[in-house]
Amino acid sequence: MAPPAANTQGGHKMRIAVLTSGGDSAGMNSAVRTIVKAGILKGCETYVVREGYEGLVRGNSTPAPATPAPARSTEAEHLADDAFVHNLRFGDGELLRHGEGDASDDPDGHTLKGRYIIRVGWDDVRGWLAEGGTLIGTARSAAFRTPEGRLSAALNMVKEGIDALCVCGGDGSLTGADVFRAEWSSLIKQLLEKGSITKEQFDHHQHLKIVGLVGSIDNDMSMTDLTIGALTALHRICEAIDNINSTAISHSRAFVIEVMGRHCGWLALMAGISGGADFVFIPERPPMADPWEDEMCEVIQGHRAVGKRKTIVIVAEGAHDASMKPIAVDYVKSVLSERLGLDTRVTTLGHTQRGGKPCAFDRILPMLQGVEAVDALLEATPETPSYMIGIQENKITRIPLLEAVKQTHAIAKAVEAKDYEKAMSLRDPEFAESLESFYTSSISLDSKRRLPEDKRLRIGIIHVGAPAGGMNAATRTAVRYCISHGHTPLAVYNGFKGLLDDNVQPLSWLRVDSWMARGGSELGTNRTLPDVDIGSVASKFQQYHFDAFFLIGGFEAFTALVQLEQGRQYYPAFRIPMVHLPATISNNVPVTEFSLGSDTSLNSLVNACDVLRQSASASRNRVFVVETQGGKCGYIATMGALATGAVLVYTPEVGINLDLLRDDVQFLKTRYLLDVKGRAEGRLVLRNEQASNIFTTDVITKILKEEGGSLFDSRSASLGHILQGDVPSPLDRARAVRLSMKCMSFLEREALAARAAPALQRRTSVAVSPKSTAAVITIQGSNVVMVPVHEMQEHADMNNRRNLNSWWEGYKELAELLGGRTALVAQK
Ligand code: ATP
Repeated sequence: MAPPAANTQGGHKMRIAVLTSGGDSAGMNSAVRTIVKAGILKGCETYVVREGYEGLVRGNSTPAPATPAPARSTEAEHLADDAFVHNLRFGDGELLRHGEGDASDDPDGHTLKGRYIIRVGWDDVRGWLAEGGTLIGTARSAAFRTPEGRLSAALNMVKEGIDALCVCGGDGSLTGADVFRAEWSSLIKQLLEKGSITKEQFDHHQHLKIVGLVGSIDNDMSMTDLTIGALTALHRICEAIDNINSTAISHSRAFVIEVMGRHCGWLALMAGISGGADFVFIPERPPMADPWEDEMCEVIQGHRAVGKRKTIVIVAEGAHDASMKPIAVDYVKSVLSERLGLDTRVTTLGHTQRGGKPCAFDRILPMLQGVEAVDALLEATPETPSYMIGIQENKITRIPLLEAVKQTHAIAKAVEAKDYEKAMSLRDPEFAESLESFYTSSISLDSKRRLPEDKRLRIGIIHVGAPAGGMNAATRTAVRYCISHGHTPLAVYNGFKGLLDDNVQPLSWLRVDSWMARGGSELGTNRTLPDVDIGSVASKFQQYHFDAFFLIGGFEAFTALVQLEQGRQYYPAFRIPMVHLPATISNNVPVTEFSLGSDTSLNSLVNACDVLRQSASASRNRVFVVETQGGKCGYIATMGALATGAVLVYTPEVGINLDLLRDDVQFLKTRYLLDVKGRAEGRLVLRNEQASNIFTTDVITKILKEEGGSLFDSRSASLGHILQGDVPSPLDRARAVRLSMKCMSFLEREALAARAAPALQRRTSVAVSPKSTAAVITIQGSNVVMVPVHEMQEHADMNNRRNLNSWWEGYKELAELLGGRTALVAQK
């Protein structure tokens, strides 16, 4: 893709500014970085506004200092006219990065004092992906809430020639954006009448183009599934709960943990699910029992009675009872201490939840949304509404800002009016589902849900293939579901090998209690498939009287289910409902967009690559060629490249050839020539382990070393099994719970339907177990769909063990676009 022609606005290059506002959230830097890079790639001039709306209100009271031309290699001069090269650096990025906005000890003698609207270039935002918070500063601006403040903001925008504004913040910030756009015409009219702007400026700035990105840890914005920073906050909360768990077990204590969320219980609920808590309090669904203290004590006493040594209660900061009386952590503590005699402590996580490095998702989401935001600004006309960029169904969406803000406020109003049904209905359906999952997997021990004796089932659970984060969480949920419904969960240890060795045992509620946060596979897993001895496998199914069978694993588990389903024609024991829950770091199971473990793996990759990048940057000019697992599927390498800002990525789907390598070497040479002398950057190249048999990681590293000469050096690193991850990520835990619940209810429904068939037919006829009863649970957009395993095969490349078409393949191009390769290779 050649660098596009400059986008112009009335003859000028279009000027896009980005600001972050409200509470900071991890991923805001990725959003700013993307707006800047995508803006430049689309031929715009890019600006950042420091300190949110406050910076817009204050504007620039001092002019930008004359920037000395950066000291680049003279060999790069032949590129100096190019628009892309011209946009590389404007010199203030270093100041912003080090949080020294008003200091004057920048190597170039810069200061940002008195300047809030700053021109930035491509290299000013380098290295921002891994930084937490927001490097351009944020604020809650009282001035912007006033008409005078907004008039001043409009004047400053016109003075700096800003045509379009991207606001990244929570619902308050986006409300402010909406107000600003609605008032814009009247604001610039006032400015013209007062003589603050010229007629020419008035004509040029008739319409304000504005777009919103939702940056908020609360995940409280309607019409989008996730907000930027919410998942990272959940990471911090889960880390805290995991740490508290070990001390709580040691002392047999209770902990009451307060998490953020004034109007939205998403963080508290997801923390409750992912952390295996005993009870949660959220604003949208206050405890319905009156008094709620009885209900809480009954549940916790039940858990203690079966032998649980720790108790975790999560309280959202905005939690209240049904009559809107706040539920304070100290009060919950006193109830647990006084009524149950538990040694209880309170932990308020506070601002630790906001901090730290963004998780993989919070680097990628703002990137995808940032690209869409720039497109939305470029396509905006006076007739189009201002958009908020959201995510729904694994797709980036544009939603009219006004509508999203309205619906968000409607939830808060419903809670205030104590209309909790309405509040829950206005949240997305997954929220209510999650609440139900929490109840089943963490709370419920009562016998009310148990089915009558004749409806109770024996359900086999097995792990197959390599371990992946979330396998244990899925098993825990399945076991808890079985127990709460009166079924017997039978764990098959050590895969099909273990089944043949009679390594089968029932699991108890307590046995799986701590499995939520455990990585690897508690049951043990290997690559043995049923065809090792299909007849004996069938006789074991018969011996253990399995009524249903649950397989958790990757492509091997999928293949195992194919074999079991095909075996049904010969072996009646396989004529039971069977379901496969995909769990593999490679994310190569067909049809489904996500497998359990892929998010944990991506986070492990990101953490390792951050370290490598730091090392590479310390050496100033080092390129690290990082090898990833993934078999013949490039998912982890591609998404990893996006999340780490790698400049090149090699996948098996695209392969590697000499022409490609020649271009890549040329790109790296040009890029290092263009670095400011003495401030070259370490760079990452990601290569999937099977991207090429010839151009191995070692060969590529040697080629780069040889060709880099004095410009750059190279090293390699293989991440290997590190990518299987340690503790599963909160996203994998939450997915494991949600999907495992659905698998269990599918198996229960189908098994009971088969049981209702006449006895003779039950074991002899294939008809009672139609093909649809051997299925794989898949995520397709926001839908979870059971796909019969024989239909899955149509979408599988069985030789290469991957999907025939993958939704993420285009992201290789995006990674290389944002890495600068596309612009510089087109440059030659
Ligand atoms: P968080 O989710 O972290 O609270 P937020 O964006 O909701 O983030 P707010 O403090 O509500 O945080 O809003 C941020 C800023 O947006 C305010 O300080 C104010 O400058 C501006 N703002 C909010 N509401 C309005 C409004 N109705 N009119 C004008 N500006 C507003």
